[in-house]
Amino acid sequence: MIKTEYYKDLTKMNTFGMKVKARCFMEYDSVADLVDIEFSELARPVLHIGGGSNLLFTDDFKGTVLHSKINFIEILDDNLCDTDPSPCSPDSSCHSERSEESFPPVLVSVGSGVVFDDFCDWAAKEGLWGVENLSYIPGEVGASAVQNIGAYGVEVKDVVHKVYCYDTLEEEFVSFGVDECGYGYRDSIFKKPEIRGRYVVTHVVFTLSRNPQPKLDYGHLKDAVDAAGGDLTPALIRKVIIKIRKEKLPEPSVVGSAGSFFKNPVVPMEQFIRIETEAKAEFGSDYKVPHYDLPDGMVKIPAAWMIEQCGWKGRRSGGAAVWEKQPLVIVNYTGEAYPEEIVGLERRIISSVKEKFGVELHPEVDHI
Ligand SMILES: Cc1cc2nc3c(=O)[nH]c(=O)nc-3n(C[C@H](O)[C@H](O)[C@H](O)COP(=O)(O)OP(=O)(O)OC[C@H]3O[C@@H](n4cnc5c(N)ncnc54)[C@H](O)[C@@H]3O)c2cc1C
Repeated sequence: MIKTEYYKDLTKMNTFGMKVKARCFMEYDSVADLVDIEFSELARPVLHIGGGSNLLFTDDFKGTVLHSKINFIEILDDNLCDTDPSPCSPDSSCHSERSEESFPPVLVSVGSGVVFDDFCDWAAKEGLWGVENLSYIPGEVGASAVQNIGAYGVEVKDVVHKVYCYDTLEEEFVSFGVDECGYGYRDSIFKKPEIRGRYVVTHVVFTLSRNPQPKLDYGHLKDAVDAAGGDLTPALIRKVIIKIRKEKLPEPSVVGSAGSFFKNPVVPMEQFIRIETEAKAEFGSDYKVPHYDLPDGMVKIPAAWMIEQCGWKGRRSGGAAVWEKQPLVIVNYTGEAYPEEIVGLERRIISSVKEKFGVELHPEVDHI
């Protein structure tokens, strides 16, 4: 079924809570419905949204907004036991006789409209490893493959097997193996200006595993998991990560935001040394500027540190504010913020970081 609505209120369809309308909104339930849409006749521009958690609508949308409700999670290729070639469950008695590393990968096909965290929850309950570190990231499965979402040392590209799409230009189905997706930091070919919007993701096949493979190297995650106690399972890691995220980040249903607003800037080593020298002059010779050395000799500095150094942490500007627990996040503090207030705060942050550090911040959030 295709549901079409005109002048649709999008307030609840973007996690920033911007009160905007779409001239035309179309929601489809299946691949067959998607094919029935006459793309060449849609009011332009056309924007496919997921949960609207990486978007900042700056005005009413004058074209067509599409949304997928393709909702399924299906195991394609589960373990085949040595003795019995039919799929078996993780608690089958035969598994106890196998070495921990012996289970083959489990391919799982997931519809683009599935809430990504519902998929993480399902995987944890199935005892499948791979997406537990990505728990509680807002948004849907289709967008996860576009955005290459990441958290706690894992990116979705680590578990994507294939991305299945409908090519709206050639009107045919295509698939991209993980190596063809051009994945980078929160980036993929689907975001490149020349093909942006051309491919609608219909479903994604992920490679998960029944072999324990905890990834706990990021920050203090291992300490938090150890402190939680209990068997090391995807469900335990998921529980710990959800707790940490709830303590640090605004809950989209309570305070509007799009998560990290800015990308972390990458600067040449000489510029980093200059920034650190100035910080040492201010805070003492032992002070260290947080950073990550990149293989090409460049240095990545957390934008959150720069924003905090410029005194923005927790500051309000009209209905917008910088989140007090994570200065990388701009929030719709009052719930009534206008897009101009968010954009105004964004501009002031960019210009003060530029003035203090000589570094230009760029938004991670898509301005629509
Ligand atoms: C509180 C909070 C915390 C966050 N934390 C993280 C985090 O830890 N890590 C992280 O990576 N991100 C994080 N984000 C950002 C956001 O959750 C991700 O970018 C997410 O993937 C966006 O998913 P969405 O479904 O909301 O997509 P949308 O924001 O609706 O769209 C994102 C992009 O995907 C495209 N798109 C959506 N669906 C499809 C489809 N079916 N086919 C083709 N294109 C499509 C859109 O056109 C757009 O370009 C956070 C956001 C919030 C609000």
